[in-house]
Formats: sequence, C-alpha cells, structure tokens
Amino acid sequence: MPKNIPYVFKQNIMSYEEILSICSIMSELGVKAVRVTGGEPLNRRGCVGFLRQLKAVSGIERVSLTTNATLLEPHIEELAKLGLFSINISLNSLDDEIYHRITGQNMFESVWSNIEKALEFGLNIKINCVLVEGFNESEILPLTRLALRYPISVRFIELMPTEVNASLKGVFIENVLDVISAEFNLKSDITPYQPYGHGPAKYFKSDGMKGNIGFISALSDNFCESCNRVRLSSEGYLKLCLHRSQGLNLRKMLRSGASDEEIKKAIEESIALKPKSHRLKTHTEVKNMSQIGG
Ligand code: SF4
Repeated sequence: MPKNIPYVFKQNIMSYEEILSICSIMSELGVKAVRVTGGEPLNRRGCVGFLRQLKAVSGIERVSLTTNATLLEPHIEELAKLGLFSINISLNSLDDEIYHRITGQNMFESVWSNIEKALEFGLNIKINCVLVEGFNESEILPLTRLALRYPISVRFIELMPTEVNASLKGVFIENVLDVISAEFNLKSDITPYQPYGHGPAKYFKSDGMKGNIGFISALSDNFCESCNRVRLSSEGYLKLCLHRSQGLNLRKMLRSGASDEEIKKAIEESIALKPKSHRLKTHTEVKNMSQIGG
C-alpha cells in the first residue's frame, strides 16, 4: 500500500452482514461470481468465515480472493476446503531485493512458501504481475518459467495510471511478449476453457508448461466493451467502472432502511449508466488502486 493514504472510520466500513445483503440482492439480479479484494482482505478479522458465508449465498456460483499472500499461511487448509474458484496473488518479483523495493516489506520468502503450500493443497493460483520500467522488467522470464514447474497462471498486467503512480512508466504487453518469445513458443490461446477465468486476460501455453501465461492489456487493448464487472467498495459505494467515479451509495440506502426491492431497482438503474469505456490514455480518475480493490 502507498504511504500516507487516508484511513476510513470503522463506522463507514460495510459490515460483513451488509456486504452479504448486497451480494444476495446482486445474485437475484444475475450476478454469479464475486471476487473479494482489498487493500488486503485477510487483514480483516473473520475474512475466511465471511468467504464461507458468501459461498452459501444462493445464486453465487464462484467466490475468488485477491491477496498479497503475506497472511495466507494459517488459512490455507480452510480455504482449500471452501472450494474457492481461484486465489489471485499479487507478486511482482521473485527476487528478494526487488520485492522489498516494490512492497516496502522484506517478506518474499514467506510469501513464496505460502504459495507453495497453497499449491500443495490444490488451490487454483493465479499470479498477478504489474511490470514497471526500472523496477521489475528483469522478472518477466523468471516469472514465466514458474508456469513450467507449477500448475499456475502467471499473468502480466499493464500498469493502469493513477494519481499515486503518475511518475511510473508501465511496460506494454507487446514488449513483454517480445521478451517471452525469445525463450518460449507461446501458442494456443486457451481463454475459453475452464478453469482459467472469466475476465479480460488472454491465456497462452508453451510446450511442457504445467500452467499458463496470461496477459491483461488494460491500456494497449481496450476491452471495456465486454466488461461485465462492478465493484463494491469497503464503504459501500457501487463503482461501475474502475476508472470512473459514477456509482451508487449502497451503504446509505441500507442504513436508511431501504427495502431489498428499492435497492434492487436502484442497482438496475445505476448499472444502465455503466460507462462505455475508460479514458486512461488522457485522464487519471483514480487516486490509488488499494482504495478501490483494483
Ligand atoms: S476500465 Fe472500466 S469499463 Fe473498462 S474494463 Fe475496466 S472497469 Fe470495465
């Protein structure tokens, strides 16, 4: 997390019960998949119990988790029993020093050991790596090689500009592919097949890979047209697009006693206003990803 971000008062954070109410209403509207992100979701007491309750919401077929894996170890066995659809782990380097420089934490060893343990328990792991010039371009091949040894998806994601990262320069997927092609012959696009995912990533494999490599070209290949996602912030704001401010204050509706039907109607009206696309190449509308679960 960036330093000096504003903290949110506890009374302004949605309780687990409130989040479950919204998920239940959303499932009646056709939502089948929920991903719990952060900040770091495992920081919040009771997160695994909440995931279990989420799995039990009628109509919700897939529950996934995004985590930095620093706090994963004590929960692995329980998470494996829960049958999560996938765990996305943010990991931008396999090198101790680079990891430390990027995250500010000297925790690579424990994160990697947690990932290995999660794999032993059969969890479906996706590694998310955002490449930034001058930080971790050297990690493209080491991370790609992970897919040879482990049944995981290694995904390279283009840096999305925010106010906090404005001074950083991301690496385009085209350049990542150039580097990987020097060592691997990436072929079949396996996107349509389970259990790789339902999002914007395009997946490829090379001979001998137990896992696969995914690319999310958020900037160079605008996939907004097929975007089917909305986000619920920790403060209960239904955000229609990662990079736009439009949305709906669901916490206010819940706490002012709105009925499920009223909330459902408001969500339907709001979703109709989902923007057609982002304006990332010309505007920066997001302060920082950790505040919105990017
Ligand atoms: S920028 Fe907005 S509309 Fe485009 S893919 Fe992301 S969330 Fe969806």
